[in-house]
Amino acid sequence: MIKPKDEFEKNIIEMFEDNFESLRIESGHTITSRAKNQALQQVILYWRKLHDLADKVTETEVKLILANQETISGHKFSIEGIVDIVNQNSEVWLYDLKTHDPDFIAENRELYEQQLNVYAFIWQMIHQTDLSNTAVISTAFPQTLRHAIEMANEKAIDYEMDKWEPVIPMPYSFDRVKETISEFANVVDEIEEGNFSPKTTEEIEEVGETSKRSFVSRVCNNCDARFSCISYREYVIKRGDRNKTGFRKFFFIASSPDAEEQEEWMTGNLSDQSKTNENE
Ligand code: SF4
Repeated sequence: MIKPKDEFEKNIIEMFEDNFESLRIESGHTITSRAKNQALQQVILYWRKLHDLADKVTETEVKLILANQETISGHKFSIEGIVDIVNQNSEVWLYDLKTHDPDFIAENRELYEQQLNVYAFIWQMIHQTDLSNTAVISTAFPQTLRHAIEMANEKAIDYEMDKWEPVIPMPYSFDRVKETISEFANVVDEIEEGNFSPKTTEEIEEVGETSKRSFVSRVCNNCDARFSCISYREYVIKRGDRNKTGFRKFFFIASSPDAEEQEEWMTGNLSDQSKTNENE
């Protein structure tokens, strides 16, 4: 459990607890205490690293919408994004917060650049002013920092915190905006026509060169659709869990190696669900 360093961090913890409680009551779902602690740790360390930038934000959670778009097949769609704006010393920066880790963003830079270019395009269209620059803020810890936290090694945490660069500037260009919008349109057509298949088992297993993490560990293990996903099922079967543990455990162990944590999650959700039923 992370210890607050000052009054402000104590306030953050209180706000986090209130927020967690409202979300739990509103949704009827909970998370394990480990996941909750990790989330709180992320909020506090993120604040320690980025409070200078957070203080400068002039507009937060700005919704950008490019409406009335149409695909080749005639499906209507809109593109929406949420960004933060810093307007200081006659410079305007647009920031896009991502929950992905910096190594993954570096490995897939083009994807992020394309999305930011569309946001910058929409922002400039609305405001009729040039942006000075755009950047991604990566809220996930890098692998090395995560490891230091797991080891509870204070010196290593301080060292990794200094090394962590969550702000990744990405100068924008409008050269490929039309192309990106038409790529969004193709995805809309695929979804509308039911042709949206998951990544293949080989793709989800592939380990990134810099991040050293696979799509499975980064995305699939947190994906709500994983138990009905053929690629994820094939991946788990290949790992051999099914033969060792039976179907029920295959489900649970595949999603979390910690049985106690899984039990806590189930009990928490069952009691939340019965409270919801009682109130209905
Ligand atoms: S588990 Fe989810 S994220 Fe992973 S491939 Fe399947 S659908 Fe996609």
